[in-house]
Amino acid sequence: MHLITFQHENRPQLGILQDDHILPVETGLKRLLPNNQDSLPSSMIGLLEMGEEGLGLLKELQRTFEKIPDDGRADLVLALGQVTLRPPVLDPEKVICLGLNYLAHAAEKNHTPPEYPMLFHKTAGSLLGAGGDIVIPPITEQVDYEGELAIIIGRTCKAVSQESAIHYVAGYTVANDVSARDLQYRTKQFTSGKMLDTFCPLGPALVTRDEIPNPNGLSIRTTLNGQIMQDDNTGQMIFDVPLIVSYISQIATLRPGDVILTGTPQGVGFARDPQVFLQAGDEITVEIEGLGRLTNRVVK
Ligand code: MG
Repeated sequence: MHLITFQHENRPQLGILQDDHILPVETGLKRLLPNNQDSLPSSMIGLLEMGEEGLGLLKELQRTFEKIPDDGRADLVLALGQVTLRPPVLDPEKVICLGLNYLAHAAEKNHTPPEYPMLFHKTAGSLLGAGGDIVIPPITEQVDYEGELAIIIGRTCKAVSQESAIHYVAGYTVANDVSARDLQYRTKQFTSGKMLDTFCPLGPALVTRDEIPNPNGLSIRTTLNGQIMQDDNTGQMIFDVPLIVSYISQIATLRPGDVILTGTPQGVGFARDPQVFLQAGDEITVEIEGLGRLTNRVVK
């Protein structure tokens, strides 16, 4: 399932994305499964906290919807173009990021590959949905893109093994770890270049784990105004998804809705000759096999 959070009637709502249509969960439960409408999840994190029961309910909703003939579906769904997408998870407790997790990217930045996952963080306040504007503030002149696979945690976990780590993952989405290079390298600590408002586009959807049997074998591509800037595969990661989840869970308890950005492949603008930085009017897209396309415009 492709699960989204979208803004409708002045509030965020949960939806199931099917091609270019949205089945709003609230309307769907009310109309198609009226006996279950008291179980309406409050948010994506609320849904994840319901565990198997929550996902099972939405799967039943989707199955019921799919039994309706095409000509009877129109008043149940919204067109994707009719709504504003929000990040799939609105207010995660943590947004943790890996740096230098692809060999070729470490090399293009003249770093030796890390011995352990190199962690830093963004904030819930930096999250932005697909289609939203990345806003460059006056404090930076070197804004860069980083296309990345993002993991969304589904169940609380602490110190889990690599073998069991995958069972705590709810699913995956597409991320852009937008980075202000001048701020990032002004001090030893990256975070001031990473946590700016709108600098973490995420989405369009949380794609549930059952649809992505191997997260470490997905093509990933970033295009800037239609030109390919990054073109790689998540199989090139130094630390794979099970290791990342297991490792971080030994440092901090992971909770439903926590987001982990897994690092970017080679081709970032900062490492190019000449360097490329995002400008007002640019359109930046990250696309990952099976997860969809995350497009954002840049404004000042
Ligand atoms: Mg990154």
